[in-house]
Amino acid sequence: MRASESTNLYFQQAADQLKTPEWMRKMLLMPKREVTVQVSFERDNGSVETVVGYRVQHDNARGPMKGGLRYHPAVDLDEVRALAALMTWKTAVTELPYGGAKGGIAIDPKTLSKKELERMTRAFVDAIHEIVGPDTDIPAPDMGTNHEVMSWFRNQWEKYHGFNPAVITGKPVEEYGAKGREEATGRGVGLLAVKLLKRVNVRPEQCRTAIQGFGNVGSHASKFLFESAFPVVAVSDLSGTYYNAKGLNIPEMFTYSIKNGNRLEGFTGAERMPAEALLELDVDLLIPAALGDVITKENASSIRAKTIIEAANGPIDPEADALLSARRILILPDILANAGGVTVSYFEWVQNRQHYRWTLDRVRQELDHTLSDAFENVWQQSSNHDVSLRTAAFMLAISRVQRATELGGGAV
Ligand code: NAD
Repeated sequence: MRASESTNLYFQQAADQLKTPEWMRKMLLMPKREVTVQVSFERDNGSVETVVGYRVQHDNARGPMKGGLRYHPAVDLDEVRALAALMTWKTAVTELPYGGAKGGIAIDPKTLSKKELERMTRAFVDAIHEIVGPDTDIPAPDMGTNHEVMSWFRNQWEKYHGFNPAVITGKPVEEYGAKGREEATGRGVGLLAVKLLKRVNVRPEQCRTAIQGFGNVGSHASKFLFESAFPVVAVSDLSGTYYNAKGLNIPEMFTYSIKNGNRLEGFTGAERMPAEALLELDVDLLIPAALGDVITKENASSIRAKTIIEAANGPIDPEADALLSARRILILPDILANAGGVTVSYFEWVQNRQHYRWTLDRVRQELDHTLSDAFENVWQQSSNHDVSLRTAAFMLAISRVQRATELGGGAV
């Protein structure tokens, strides 16, 4: 199933519950604008490389559009379109005053030198600067991009439009970035895990947890859960699964991974298994925090966890979602579970616009507040309508975007 088909399927399930009319569904599903641009830049050897860049602006009924920039060889229009729509539903479910967008370039950034990466980013800004801005569309980091790329983007955009760091988020902390942005998505996953388990009357100490991926999201989620007394019994990265039935020493692994170039390869303080083994372990809580589509109809019946938190975007495909839901496995959907990152991006934008810096404590408190409210609303919606947390989250998101569209006069 194509990426946009999965998102649209969840949309339709929720829209059926809401009895959203066909004409409104069509309006909400179709992106406002899709831009494909040529990005040409000079390689270090003097040759010229030409690649394709995208920006999809899905919806702006609730505010300026917001969404990351992905540099990855698999980037195509369909993927960017699906991720842009997900951003609309994500910002709506957390009640951030934004719409949704996404962009990217079809290239493997690891094949570029730092100077080439910078020249490519600046060429991309040259091609799209007129359609992004602090009040229209605010990019952020995603797969293959980081705070340095955000810095080049801001600098190039300001050459056309003048000083305005709120044009992009995920900037370096010493250059208009927000404290706590880096940990935000993983911390959000951890905060939500605590809330979810409390709702189902499970104490953290009883909750053996496995986390797939020990990158930005997985490592910070592991750290938060370890500090909240969860026995994290397994984590994995590309190098394999690391297991300890009594609970891993996460602080040690966190430090090791940072020193080792964000990889666990060579860590000896745990039992080793193949990377794929993690998903099928006998645990209470499973957190896929690496890639999309890792749980499909092929392996859904082997999943033994009672609860799954979707830290990655789209780790469970719709067919597997139906199979797991039929087994009453509780799933916290990605549009809520990994919304901590965009929430702190919003805090960064607010600080930039006010020229006022928040402390890390304030960022953490406000993150907790925003995600708690969103979680409680989704939980209530799910109980009131007897639907899954995913359908409940989409129902809330769609009804908010629909209402804003009607109030703004877009639905004539
Ligand atoms: P990352 O690149 O920092 O980390 C990815 C991790 O997954 C690495 O540890 C890598 O080794 C591991 N991995 C890759 N393939 C694997 C496999 N087959 N088995 C086990 N581990 C594997 O990425 P990230 O920023 O942590 O993002 C992870 C996911 O979360 C992505 O789906 C991303 O779209 C989503 N997400 C990230 C953010 C954010 O703020 N970083 C926000 C929202 C959603």
